[in-house]
Amino acid sequence: NRQWILESRPTGEPTMDNFDLRESEIPEPDHGEVLVESRYLSVDPYMRGRMRDAESYAEPWDVGDVMQAGVVGDVVESNHPEFEEGDVATGNLRWAEYAVADGDDLQPVDPDLAPVSTALGVLGMPGRTAYFGTLEVAEPEPGDTVLVSGAAGAVGSVVGQISKLAGARVVGIAGADEKIDWLTEELGFDAGINYKEADNLYAAVGEACPDGVDAYFDNVGGEITDAAFAHLNVRARVAVCGQISLYNATERPMGPRKLAGLIETRARVEGLLVRDWAGRFGEATEQLAEWVQTGDVQYRETVTEGFENMPEAFLGLFDGVNIGKQLVEVE
Ligand code: NDP
Repeated sequence: NRQWILESRPTGEPTMDNFDLRESEIPEPDHGEVLVESRYLSVDPYMRGRMRDAESYAEPWDVGDVMQAGVVGDVVESNHPEFEEGDVATGNLRWAEYAVADGDDLQPVDPDLAPVSTALGVLGMPGRTAYFGTLEVAEPEPGDTVLVSGAAGAVGSVVGQISKLAGARVVGIAGADEKIDWLTEELGFDAGINYKEADNLYAAVGEACPDGVDAYFDNVGGEITDAAFAHLNVRARVAVCGQISLYNATERPMGPRKLAGLIETRARVEGLLVRDWAGRFGEATEQLAEWVQTGDVQYRETVTEGFENMPEAFLGLFDGVNIGKQLVEVE
């Protein structure tokens, strides 16, 4: 049973030295527990926060411990009444080929609904983040302009499509022409900005959003967000979902800027945590599954083959290697 251990805490951008691959015994499930063999593992930006020794909304991991991850896998052995051998299950497990969990903390995955990997993406945590963050915080109205950063990622790509379904004009910001093409040619985004190619982000946002921005869904923070704030309309909503451009920062970034504009626009800036809607996850999954089946919401996955490549897949998130949801498939 191979496992990835947090070997050391990163300073700035994580490196391979922060991870250690170890062999261990396959664990035995106790009373009420289930043994799961991982098929797909999720790497997510929030994991960077858990590698840090600082209080945040997710608890820090201890150095020397096996890291945690969202996993979809096969039930190998079950001491829980709701699971039996051969079932597919998902839950917050480990960066490991096998892991045990309390059956109460696992959810069954229906392989007939969609490919099981989607339980970690469009039908899982990122999809639910997009669903609630868009409908409950960004609140797009017909005719609004919605601007999304991190637009070609797991969350952002779904945010844009739900905003289209709500009747908005949608503009996505992402870091590669291939990503912008996917958003505008396949997902129905009205315009896109490749921020890595833009000489002047402020001007690029202005050009792509000639009527200003009514809702800004922020996955990245930093200069992209500065540019977005400068184009907010009266009564605009800003949904602060992630700040990935700052996760590897070694110095405290400059505080919120350009807030004088909020006086004039009376815009609302609101952070969100998907777990606050835990009581409504079923509703989100059901609606997202329906949209996936009708083709109203399309998704893409970037699948890294091989459990041994998990840290590399994680590090790729900070270089924008992924289009859509980044997963690792155990071969
Ligand atoms: P993504 O699939 O979007 O992957 C991360 C992407 O971020 C990369 O592909 C890259 O794309 C972009 N990126 C990386 N570095 C930078 C940078 N310096 N500036 C701008 N863009 C950058 O991840 P998720 O969809 O899983 O997560 C998106 C955001 O949402 C993250 O910030 C995450 O922490 C947050 N989140 C928050 C939740 C909550 O409850 N609040 C729940 C889930 C996620 P590119 O090529 O465009 O640069």
